Amino acid sequence: MDQSELKILKELSESFGPSGFELETANIVKKYVKEFADEILTDKLGSVMFKIKGNAEKPVILIPGHTDEIGFVISGIDKSGFLTFNTLGGWFDQVLLAQRVTIRTHKVDRLGVITSKPPHVLDPEERKKVVTKKEMFIDIGCSSKEEAEEEGIRIGDPVVPDSPFSVIRNGKIAVGKAFDDRLGIFAAMIALKRIKEQGIEHPNTVIGAATTQEEVGLRGARTTAYLVDPDVAFVLEIDISSDVPGIEEHQAPSKMGQGMAILTHDGSMIPNQPLKEFVIKVAEEANIKYQLSAMPRGGTDAGVIHISRVGVPSIVLGIPTRHIHSWVGMTSIEDIERMIKLLIELIKYTDKQTVESFTTI
Ligand SMILES: [Zn+2]
Repeated sequence: MDQSELKILKELSESFGPSGFELETANIVKKYVKEFADEILTDKLGSVMFKIKGNAEKPVILIPGHTDEIGFVISGIDKSGFLTFNTLGGWFDQVLLAQRVTIRTHKVDRLGVITSKPPHVLDPEERKKVVTKKEMFIDIGCSSKEEAEEEGIRIGDPVVPDSPFSVIRNGKIAVGKAFDDRLGIFAAMIALKRIKEQGIEHPNTVIGAATTQEEVGLRGARTTAYLVDPDVAFVLEIDISSDVPGIEEHQAPSKMGQGMAILTHDGSMIPNQPLKEFVIKVAEEANIKYQLSAMPRGGTDAGVIHISRVGVPSIVLGIPTRHIHSWVGMTSIEDIERMIKLLIELIKYTDKQTVESFTTI
């Protein structure tokens, strides 16, 4: 992966885009894809689609990743100027304390810190307890409600982690926020860009997509699938990397740096089986390292795409990522590269006959 591609990943990761407030991220996608896409489409929930035409109109391949990241929304301002907040998407309360956040007001972005009562004023029994979100607030350095309002804070303002993108270990590992699922969008964008730039022939039409509001109920994927009416879908996601202390192998089979993941099932769908075998075969023939994985409890955009209209053969491909749904994710750049390579191979071989074979009874 070259520096100009890494720069796009950094820009996507650092962009402000919690569920329902994804315009900035969608605009970054549009800015880059318009350099190579044959056509750009949008639904009315803010999703952006980028089409590249091959040698045939059909089949239509949909390759979505979701634009939104998990975040927060301001729910109140107390008389001392402290802010309460609700969550957008699934957070684990224990990762929130003492973190910096960015609040987007109707004026400018404000820096805040999520905090709670300091330990010094807690009695010994209180100290043993886990602090829950209910007892936390965001401090923006104000001392009254009026001061907070002067800063531009209003109920409903969106909030995201303040977490810069970095690359460590000699360019091998990326660290940053919102890898779920900016990594997916990034892989779709780069795969389609390389196909166009290198003039790679493909017997189909491909539509990459940045879908909105996945983390709050797979909403943009529903409208995207309706608009695109795909014949097959490769849904791009992160996968939970199990190579951290305390996770047993059966709880999350994939490991960072050991190959991109082919999801055998998740909480929202079971992939089309001939399609799964096709993906495995293409990966093996191209010598792309992969891991079979499973996410029994989480849902993905594939959950609604595979039951769109009369059904769409779908599968989820994941990039193993450590510490998802926290301030910083960690992922292997080589696994991202494997995902891009597999997508290019899949696009090269997904023709009408192959797609028809997925649903022949
Ligand atoms: Zn996701």
